[in-house]
Amino acid sequence: MIRLTVPSIDEADFKAVREVLESGFLVQGSKVAAFEQAVADCVETQHAVAVSSGTSALHLALLALGVGPADIVVTTAYSHPATANVVELCGARPIFVDIERDTYNMDPDCLESTLKRLMAEASTARRVKVLLPVHAFGQLAKMPAILAIASKYQLPVVEDAACALGAKLHGRQAGSWGVMACFSFHPRKAITTGEGGIIATNDASLARRLRALRNHGQDADAPAGAFIMPGYNYRMTELQGALGLTQMVKLERIVAVRRRLAAVYDRLLANTPIAPPVVAADSEPTYQSYVPLLAGDLAQRRDELIRESRAQGIETTIGTWHIPLTPYYRTKYAFHRGLLPGADAVFDRTISLPLHEQLSTADQQAVVSTLTDQLARPAP
Ligand SMILES: *Cc1c(COP(=O)(O)O)cnc(C)c1O
Repeated sequence: MIRLTVPSIDEADFKAVREVLESGFLVQGSKVAAFEQAVADCVETQHAVAVSSGTSALHLALLALGVGPADIVVTTAYSHPATANVVELCGARPIFVDIERDTYNMDPDCLESTLKRLMAEASTARRVKVLLPVHAFGQLAKMPAILAIASKYQLPVVEDAACALGAKLHGRQAGSWGVMACFSFHPRKAITTGEGGIIATNDASLARRLRALRNHGQDADAPAGAFIMPGYNYRMTELQGALGLTQMVKLERIVAVRRRLAAVYDRLLANTPIAPPVVAADSEPTYQSYVPLLAGDLAQRRDELIRESRAQGIETTIGTWHIPLTPYYRTKYAFHRGLLPGADAVFDRTISLPLHEQLSTADQQAVVSTLTDQLARPAP
């Protein structure tokens, strides 16, 4: 089986986790703090607050900004459902912006027209609280344009950078653009802590609030550790912190390998009906996933392609989700096809190919020839 993803775990990771187990200090020790510093250094922010997952990072970022019932958070239509779920869990409403068909990222023109519409209506204008763009599959959204729009409407930007640790746009790190940025260390991301997440920020008071929210509402900076609000237990364990530290050492290598493998796929897919993913000018993605786009007339064969390639020992899957078309959002907000044409087209036609450090060029050739052979056969 050529696996979709295999985490890059080696002897250093085993040793680090074992040392934590032997130390007896499993939570709230020095490993998580050191991991936070390593991520802050990498992202080039003043602070980083480690939590239990990318989802809890997003949840706390919105809570720290005071997002609550009846508020509106403007986000992208094409992402993991977690991006919108956290908005719902705050009692707020996600408004979905359509995406660019080439980069799969939030389309700044659609963002502008969505905000214009929301701001023209007194009842919605004062409820819009946060912009939540996503860096799809580890490629930054068009942050200069998004930040310009955000500042015009005086809205804070939170980056869903779950897939983008180590990605850059115009030489600037993912996670250093918004007021906060959320990363995930789920095993499908470039580096992993099993489960885990982190919020990067330059705002000391937000960092303090995030630290309280993740730890039962206890203010770490208050003399006696006063409980100042109701909070969650969204803490990262020392096992994860230690693993994160040894994984961070490998981040540059892992991202470099992923870029090299992506370039090989790009070449192999040339002159096939499967178009390589588009990288914007001056953008350095991490390729959390390698997600090419099937030609338009092949959309109805995408699921067959995934099924058949798996049957032949090659694990592929869809790109990610068209959130407004998932049952909860479709039902609650009466979404249907046609409202977000960019997301409609991309959702039907994307396929995620195997990408990990153990993948050989022969594996990649097998992946591409299996897919193109299948497409050369008539549809069943
Ligand atoms: C993975 C992912 C999440 C959720 O992260 P978890 O660590 O799995 O909770 C959120 N948003 C995006 C875009 C993701 O890819």
